[in-house]
Amino acid sequence: MFRLCNKGSRQVIMIRKSIGQSEGKYLPLVEEFYSVQGEGFHAGKAAWFIRLGGCDVGCNWCDTRFAWDPELHPMIDTGAIINNAVGSGADSVVVTGGEPLMWNLDYLCSGLKENKISTFIETSGACELSGKWDWICLSPKKNMPPGEDICHLAHELKIIIEKSEDFLWAEEYRRLVSSNCRLFLQPEWSRFNTIIPGIVDYVLKNPQWRISLQIHKYMHIP
Ligand code: SF4
Repeated sequence: MFRLCNKGSRQVIMIRKSIGQSEGKYLPLVEEFYSVQGEGFHAGKAAWFIRLGGCDVGCNWCDTRFAWDPELHPMIDTGAIINNAVGSGADSVVVTGGEPLMWNLDYLCSGLKENKISTFIETSGACELSGKWDWICLSPKKNMPPGEDICHLAHELKIIIEKSEDFLWAEEYRRLVSSNCRLFLQPEWSRFNTIIPGIVDYVLKNPQWRISLQIHKYMHIP
């Protein structure tokens, strides 16, 4: 079934009607590919990526706007998505979006786990959690902040820093995650040159945080 991020989202409600109780057996696939993780704790690690359509969080700097509208992306049999991941030979899958938790991911995760594939998710935490995850990378967004439940479960907290007041926002969420959650500050890509000196300075003074760079963009890979 569907997970509503924004109960006022007419678009999501329309799609829910059109697909009914899919129970996650069909998902709106934007793209799937084998690549190297570019961000956060697992940067540099090879993984199979599954990008799902749909997001109404609306970050002004979003670099995956093409994934926002789920109606633009075909509903694919989740079994086929699982088979493609297995066929890739990858030992881990990163489910991303869009906001992948707009969808019920229980069926996807159980199929991946049956095939001994580790499950990683990149999420804003704006929707209800589904699926079983070996790694939850939580990247809260001011437009639609996450609930406290997913904060406690996150393995990694990744805060996008666009301006200096975002450090305060980062500290708010550091207090909500568990003590062993990995903490990352990541410069917003289009403001890199402006903001990176402040991030470096902040990490030097607050070494519990690390810097995450989007290394896939430097390597010109997806
Ligand atoms: Fe883009 Fe992610 Fe923000 Fe959605 S939550 S608008 S996909 S950056």
